[in-house]
Amino acid sequence: MSDNAWFTEQHEHSGSSIGFRVKQLLHSEKTPFQTIEIYDTTDWGKLMVIDGCTMVSTRDNFLYHEMMSHPALFTHARAKRVVIIGGGDCGTLREVLRHDEVEKAVQVEIDERVTRLAEKYFPELCEANDDPRAELLFIDGIKYMAECEPDSLDLVIVDSTDPVGPAEGLFNAAFYSSCYKALRHGGILVQQSESPLVHLDLIKSMRNAMKNAGFQAAKTLSFPQPVYPTGWWSCTMVRKGADLAGFRERGAASKQFATRYYNVDMHKAALALPEFVREALGE
Ligand code: SAM
Repeated sequence: MSDNAWFTEQHEHSGSSIGFRVKQLLHSEKTPFQTIEIYDTTDWGKLMVIDGCTMVSTRDNFLYHEMMSHPALFTHARAKRVVIIGGGDCGTLREVLRHDEVEKAVQVEIDERVTRLAEKYFPELCEANDDPRAELLFIDGIKYMAECEPDSLDLVIVDSTDPVGPAEGLFNAAFYSSCYKALRHGGILVQQSESPLVHLDLIKSMRNAMKNAGFQAAKTLSFPQPVYPTGWWSCTMVRKGADLAGFRERGAASKQFATRYYNVDMHKAALALPEFVREALGE
């Protein structure tokens, strides 16, 4: 690679692109599901790219992984059984297992190669994989949720790629109905919901589909994520049979594990919506 080589992700939908100066392409392969590339960058550590879209960088993944897990876990009174759909880099699984109340966390990733490459190039994200509470399955998350035992889960985290290819079916009412059925009363579903700046229509249609599946309260939380288009990302949380007012602030303030982004104030900040988002979501 030349001294000044860049990986660039072009984001057609927003007419923008994001780039990283790279030292080397470390790995590239086409799996039955997608094309995975791993780059060594000059400033962002390792970078995983799937089908041309940035997934994870060493430097900033903590923002996303912490916000996909801790707000939901500190909202639920005691989440014992957790399922992560996607999330093959294992960073969300690691954050979930920081919570002592979690008795079992199943990661359901369609593409085993994502996890094997994460083990090699992002070993720090995989450090909880041998936790006896963790189970790693390599199957389709849509099928897994459709066949899940009713009323058996407390939290489902959908840590997926964008709604194209194998992840398309993770963004519709049929999938949300499966999640609703599998969750216990008070159970929470949280899903990465793209950028509030350029994907508001998607966020709106996800929330509608979740409502149609039976979920009541919905909250969209936003946080920075420099490696994703626009640099501003979100997750959307819904709950079965209960509202989403408040969270366990005392528990979050006295948590027994370190975080780099998440704390009580960032949790509250993530829940605050800008005017244009409020208006679009009718809040
Ligand atoms: N944080 C990332 C983002 O927002 O771009 C996503 C990280 S994670 C690597 C996404 C994972 O979802 C990928 O490894 C992909 O294989 C997985 N995935 C996509 N569709 C899936 C499905 N139907 N069932 C299970 N996993 C799926």
